[in-house]
Amino acid sequence: MRLARFDGDRLGIVAGDTLLDVTDAVMERSSFPTDDPMLACIHLGAPPSDIAARECPLAQVKLEAPLRRPGKIIAAAANYWKHTQEMNPGQEKLVCIREKGFFLKAPSSLVGTGGTVHLPFADRRTDQEAELAVVIGRGGRNIAPARVYDHVFGYACLLDITMRGKEDRGYRKSFDTFTPLGPWITTRDEVPDPMALAIECRVNGEVRQDDTTGSMIMGIRDLVAWISEGMTLEPGDVIATGTPAGVGPIAPGDRVEVDIERLGTLAVEVAGP
Ligand code: MN
Repeated sequence: MRLARFDGDRLGIVAGDTLLDVTDAVMERSSFPTDDPMLACIHLGAPPSDIAARECPLAQVKLEAPLRRPGKIIAAAANYWKHTQEMNPGQEKLVCIREKGFFLKAPSSLVGTGGTVHLPFADRRTDQEAELAVVIGRGGRNIAPARVYDHVFGYACLLDITMRGKEDRGYRKSFDTFTPLGPWITTRDEVPDPMALAIECRVNGEVRQDDTTGSMIMGIRDLVAWISEGMTLEPGDVIATGTPAGVGPIAPGDRVEVDIERLGTLAVEVAGP
């Protein structure tokens, strides 16, 4: 199932080029206190199946980031070797995810497909990083690797927009609109092997990143298990799993697209502040 947030806080099931609006049914049945119907749906586990939903053409709605304000966006650092190499040219001893671990991005940095990434500083290099996002369904702490997929609600395309520089990553990656997510959440049952998905990123139509999620140094099971050691994961939390090689500067006027197999296309424009 592909679940989209649209036109503010509406929730829809994407079926071809049609969208079934299930907002009211989900909000009626959810007991979780939220006005984000996607978060309510994640707490329910899935939208109710016995509902009469209003249909509308997908092309007539404005898609939003699939979650309005997740509790956490947790991101893996240096989780693809070729990207680690490109960031440290000529360096013999490369430091990867195992040493670098994770960082947090502000939940207020989300933007949906069709949105605009605003670069706050014209004189600072800012790069695109295309990543597979994992959305947590059932919360947990100290999750065993073998149980990780039981806690996954679904997947989406994500851009970890990054200003380069010496400041802490939490600052350089948390500006408003620096985390495009979408175009929707594809539920776990539709992605039999999330570790074998083609991932491609284009800037102005030119391919910059072209790899598979199978190139991750640390796979989803170990990543999520590790994050959950001592840190409670909650429904709706988003995990960015790291970027393949091919990151590069983006500038006002650019169009950035991320395609991940089975998950659709996330597309954003780039503009100044
Ligand atoms: Mn990243």
